[in-house]
Amino acid sequence: MWVRFRCSFQRFGWSVLTNQRCLCSSGSEIQSPLNYVDGERINPTNRNEPERFDLFAPATGELLGHIVSSSPEDVDTAVKNSENAFKKWSSLSGSERGKVLLQTAHIIRDQAEELSHVEVLNTGKPIWEARVDILGCADAVEYYGGIAATIAGQHIQLPNGSFAYTRREPLGVVGAIGAWNYPFQMAAWKSAPALACGNTMVFKPSPLTPLTAIMLGEIYTQAGLPDGCFNVIQGQANTGTCLSQYPGINKMTFTGSVPTGSKVMEACAQGIKPVTLELGGKSPLIVFADCDVENAVNGAMLANFLTQGQVCSNGTRVFVEEPILDQFLTLLVEKTKKLKIGDPWSDDTAVGAMISREHAEKVLGYVQLAKSEGATVLYGGDRVTLKDPKFSEGYFLRPCILSGCHDNMRVVQEEIFGSVVSVLSFDCEDEVVKRANDTEFGLAGGVFTRDIQRAHRVAAQLQAGTIYINNYNVFPVEVPFGGYKKSGLGRENGTVTLDYYTQVKSVYVEMNKVVSPW
Ligand code: NAD
Repeated sequence: MWVRFRCSFQRFGWSVLTNQRCLCSSGSEIQSPLNYVDGERINPTNRNEPERFDLFAPATGELLGHIVSSSPEDVDTAVKNSENAFKKWSSLSGSERGKVLLQTAHIIRDQAEELSHVEVLNTGKPIWEARVDILGCADAVEYYGGIAATIAGQHIQLPNGSFAYTRREPLGVVGAIGAWNYPFQMAAWKSAPALACGNTMVFKPSPLTPLTAIMLGEIYTQAGLPDGCFNVIQGQANTGTCLSQYPGINKMTFTGSVPTGSKVMEACAQGIKPVTLELGGKSPLIVFADCDVENAVNGAMLANFLTQGQVCSNGTRVFVEEPILDQFLTLLVEKTKKLKIGDPWSDDTAVGAMISREHAEKVLGYVQLAKSEGATVLYGGDRVTLKDPKFSEGYFLRPCILSGCHDNMRVVQEEIFGSVVSVLSFDCEDEVVKRANDTEFGLAGGVFTRDIQRAHRVAAQLQAGTIYINNYNVFPVEVPFGGYKKSGLGRENGTVTLDYYTQVKSVYVEMNKVVSPW
């Protein structure tokens, strides 16, 4: 029997009933303002023919509301508030800032269930994945809360008693732009280290997933973050352009596609602003014949089917050593067939809905292209219409396994951003390393083998920011994440990201008289 209760995402103006799962809205539009500036929800000021966009729930196709894009005036208000907040926030000690982040992590865990439901509503991903994402964010915020007090410069001894020291200073107001596949995670992964270092932030979520970033803003406020330190503005490309070009922004951090990343970098070049870019990928997963085959198949599924395949680091080019190719493919198809596709709020669902009709059609187009390029569709690659009428408008795709692929096919070279796996065979290590690196991307890569020396040898040769040995798509916050080549610049996570949110000032201290050359 369903236990019905009203859940507090009525904050968004929806009437939401849940039986441990969300039944979505009752058709009402979002009533609550979706910009979060200076510690409160506000409406964009842009009243003269404002740019609007529709927000849909991917799983049900339901229209959740029309959202007004933030105008240049809204960007200006958010940045000015952020500049004011910076004066106070940057003057606190690291441990004072850390306490706020630790409290934030605590509240995220407390509200994890509600956050997960809203994330499912907004992304269509299965609830178990949303829970993992949200709890992982609590860990990330806690990690930066824990190290905030340790962010420090160096003491450098010089001749004759003189010395220098360095100060690691925050950059000021950071502009941040996110993609739609991990909405809460992007807001948390960017804001927690930035705030730990003493910066403030104006964050623009993807227009497809605007909801949970504001919830993070409210949680920060509840945890004691001063108003204006973390602001959220909604909008599309125009708002993103305006934010990237805005003179009061001292640094940009961007997650999204390569073409947009390039535009953000151009805008930063105009203002000589540092920029971190987390972009796309087409990563290789190499399976050697000596591996535990079932383990490698499980790894390949992790590498391809999370979040309906809409994951930047996915190992979509699976290279399998010839002697185990048939065994690998048989097992991969067998296990993939068992994945339950459907209601993302159901605990046993493995595959939820694609983010939008347009994106689902793009992915289906790649399956057609694969066929025309000569690949064989071993399984899936078609739309699934669910029996439950509630989900009839949702875009559910069966994960697709392609065999008989070649390196120069477009489906093997281009980022599809959906569950389409290209399986390729190989004969020897040198050959596969060369082929794995033959891509413009360099976000991640994976190796399955029992040969420990080969594992490390291959890991060293692959040109990518993260290499998994005998696993794939795990993202502990302690481990830096980011791309080589066109997959990006800079790193998120780990302590190395602190370098991207601080600038170093050297202070020279003379202990003797000036030695004049004149
Ligand atoms: P996208 O580039 O279309 O959009 C990303 C963000 O940029 C959105 O918020 C969008 O509104 C904004 N934007 C659009 N035009 C802009 C402009 N001219 N100036 C500034 N901002 C602008 O990407 P997407 O479709 O949202 O996301 C999918 C892409 O993101 C894939 O390529 C995926 O690989 C990549 N991605 C990378 C990572 C990573 O960590 N490397 C993580 C997730 C997604």
